[in-house]
Amino acid sequence: MTTYVQMFQQGSKEQKGLLGGKGANLAEMVRLGLPVPPGFTITTEACRWYMTHGSAPQELTAQVDEAMARVERELGRRLGDVEDPLLVAVRSGSKMSMPGMMETVLNVGLNDETVQGLARKSGSPRFAMDSYRRLLQMYGRTVLDVDAALFEDVLEEAKKERGVSSDVELTAEDLTAVVGRFQQIILEQTGYPFPQDPREQLRASIIAVFESWNAPRAVVYRNTERIPHDLGTAVNVCSMVLGNLDDDSASGVAFTRDPATGAIGAHGDFLVNAQGEDVVAGIRNTRSLPELEQLMPAVYTELMDIMHRLEMHYRDLCDVEFTVESGKLWMLQTRVGKRIAEAAFRIATTLVDEGVIDEREALTRVTGAQLTRLLFPRFAADAPREAIARGMDASPGAAVGRIAFTTAEVLRLQRDGESAILVRRETNPDDLEGMIASAGILTSRGGRTSHAAVVARGLGRTAVCGVEAFDVDENAGEIRVGDEVVARAGDILSIDGSTGEVFAGAVPVEPSAVVQSLTGEIDPDVAEADELVASVHRLLEVADRARRMRVRANADTPEDAARARALGAEGIGLVRTEHMFLGDRRHLVEDLVLAADEFERGQVLDSLLPMQREDFVGILRAMDGRSVTVRLLDPPLHEFLPDLTELSVKLARQEAQGVERDAHEEKVLAAVRRLHEQNPMLGLRGVRLALTIPGLYGMQTRAILEAAAKLRSEGLDPRVEIMIPLVSSVRELREIMPEVTAVRDAVCRETGMDLATSIGTMIELPRAALRADELAQEADFFSFGTNDLTQTTWGFSRDDVEAGFFFTYRDRGILLSSPFETLDQFGVGELVRIGAERGRSTKPELKLGICGEHGGDPASIAFFHHVGLDYVSCSPFRVPVARLEAGRAALLEEEFTPQH
Ligand code: PEP
Ligand code: MG
Repeated sequence: MTTYVQMFQQGSKEQKGLLGGKGANLAEMVRLGLPVPPGFTITTEACRWYMTHGSAPQELTAQVDEAMARVERELGRRLGDVEDPLLVAVRSGSKMSMPGMMETVLNVGLNDETVQGLARKSGSPRFAMDSYRRLLQMYGRTVLDVDAALFEDVLEEAKKERGVSSDVELTAEDLTAVVGRFQQIILEQTGYPFPQDPREQLRASIIAVFESWNAPRAVVYRNTERIPHDLGTAVNVCSMVLGNLDDDSASGVAFTRDPATGAIGAHGDFLVNAQGEDVVAGIRNTRSLPELEQLMPAVYTELMDIMHRLEMHYRDLCDVEFTVESGKLWMLQTRVGKRIAEAAFRIATTLVDEGVIDEREALTRVTGAQLTRLLFPRFAADAPREAIARGMDASPGAAVGRIAFTTAEVLRLQRDGESAILVRRETNPDDLEGMIASAGILTSRGGRTSHAAVVARGLGRTAVCGVEAFDVDENAGEIRVGDEVVARAGDILSIDGSTGEVFAGAVPVEPSAVVQSLTGEIDPDVAEADELVASVHRLLEVADRARRMRVRANADTPEDAARARALGAEGIGLVRTEHMFLGDRRHLVEDLVLAADEFERGQVLDSLLPMQREDFVGILRAMDGRSVTVRLLDPPLHEFLPDLTELSVKLARQEAQGVERDAHEEKVLAAVRRLHEQNPMLGLRGVRLALTIPGLYGMQTRAILEAAAKLRSEGLDPRVEIMIPLVSSVRELREIMPEVTAVRDAVCRETGMDLATSIGTMIELPRAALRADELAQEADFFSFGTNDLTQTTWGFSRDDVEAGFFFTYRDRGILLSSPFETLDQFGVGELVRIGAERGRSTKPELKLGICGEHGGDPASIAFFHHVGLDYVSCSPFRVPVARLEAGRAALLEEEFTPQH
């Protein structure tokens, strides 16, 4: 029989897959002897069963009953006991944290009778009724799918009638009336009364948590965070401790260090006489942790002690949820806390300085995705700006956009190509889509731990929360300060998530200090004095020492090459030479196509030669002493020619107007017609082009080697490699190689220099990967072109799919991310692995690299390390990210598992 239930005292933090993060960490806290309310976890396996079969496994009910009986024995109280009822919380908790995305039902166990028992036992009818109305509200919404607004309206009315602004001020009588109304709503909306049987409440709440795994917002969140849809959630059933029992009770969330800056010292928010949901919902403005020290000094000391122990145990920043019930502290949750990118770097190096971890472990505590965020620009320091308000610095960065009060408005602005700032009183999980699509988020309520702040940090969105001066009127589409309207929907706002400032209009932004320090644009001493910049440099150095793969850049101009080098590129993995034929040189390609015979073609190629040579001189000079892989011309020729329809229409119109036929344009039209292809990406490109236009690759080879000879004669050390694109058969290589090697040998003879140049091929078609053993007979190196390889493996057009049906595929969970952004490790990656293995079976020393976009994708780099590539090549901007990830890949190689 499968065991679907584990008591907290049976598990450990290693069991996140089975118990979910929350369950595993609760178990760990029990092992550490910390005060955790008794409870148990229903495993993710049960949820997966539920998802497959549409019902819970049969043995679950008996197992839950047994676990519940153990909790009852431990506490000496029983679920449904009318004198002294035990209440439980039913909480979700998956392997990966999905804050606020799934459901929770609190106070399960209350009914019309037990609520009286609770009132007597606690001595507070008000408290008992408040707990009951919360159960009805959560159960109604979550389990019974009743519209949440119906309950909220009743609560609002009750407050209005009593003339109060907060629900804490409602009396027991008010709440009794609210409870009556809530029960009526449930009866009206579902046709059934609220179930009085606590076991039934428990059973239905567990199912509702299973169901919430597939709630639309949870699916959207997993898509964004690339969390697999088949993990399922665990369900934690935990005896309730009551933060809303009296004024000696409280609930709060806290971090062992500041998750926004990394600064040492506990940090958090709490509310007296409240349940945990009130703190994170941002509905009431919270109090900060130091105030707890004054209000409840003993609790504060114990909490600090526990947090210190947790940080030492997990050897990292932890966050906790706690509740105080009549002066007694309980820990409801802990985990290694999420943090923003800046904080991640600072915390990692601070922990090294504190002797908690070593430098190599510190490197594993930061990610390329986090480093990417530090490469974003900030508001220009000296730009004029008009601060109109200030809130909390909830998620850093600088965002400028038009004010949108709803997700729909954000999406409309996005469609019009405008960036949006989502402005809300407070956000809730249903705002997720708008938060993803916005440039930044502003709320007038709630603090750094509010929903808006937590989600924004996770998404890497700038956010300013708790701008209390703002009266956000979503219905009127206005923001008011007092009686004055300060902004309306559509107005431009700038928000600084690092300072909490809000500015009217657009404030200019400037580049990141990390980028500037890496490129040497700011004085190294000034850079080192910046704690964050120093942390990034330090961990990049650790990565450089740890990594096996080299990092090169894709660059086509001397400027890009120089920038890439400054950012740490050890060479160029891809010079796309077609970029040198754009602009005013475009007509030369036209001439090449129109050349009547070999002689004319030769003349055009001769005229291209000096220009190409100068191009290569510039790039090789910028990368002196480091390898530069030049790829010979790749794209279809028609890209350089006028559009067929446009040209035909133009000529037809001229003819209709009696204008004399232009012979040149007629010739161009004929050529365009001849070269027209229905699927140019699968057409006359790469080596196919070279085999059709003899002399083209020869000319490029000559230009490359003459450039190298020129630099050599200046005493420099140019290192070129020549690469043939879009090869699928070794016969293509055998046909084209003589043209390239003959020119190479000729230039060596003419210059008297040994310009030893390796000649390799791209592996960017499935056939090339499959026949790599043969290709390696001719090629000195391989570079995987994963852009084309993805296109041809999936049969997705790389130019269209991301704007087309990709979203449908993502929403249906067929794809978690675009395969053009993150490598499809099981499909395209398998071809890379096969290509590498087969190539090296012929030539064990074969040099292998990747120059498709995936070379700079933080989520793909470990895979390239795993299959044994020698280098990744990526856009200059991503070079630091690739260095960091290549270092992490080397340190974490034992833990590598391919990712979907
Ligand atoms: C590739 O296909 O991955 C590649 C690098 O070449 P391009 O993007 O120029 O087609
Ligand atoms: Mg390609």
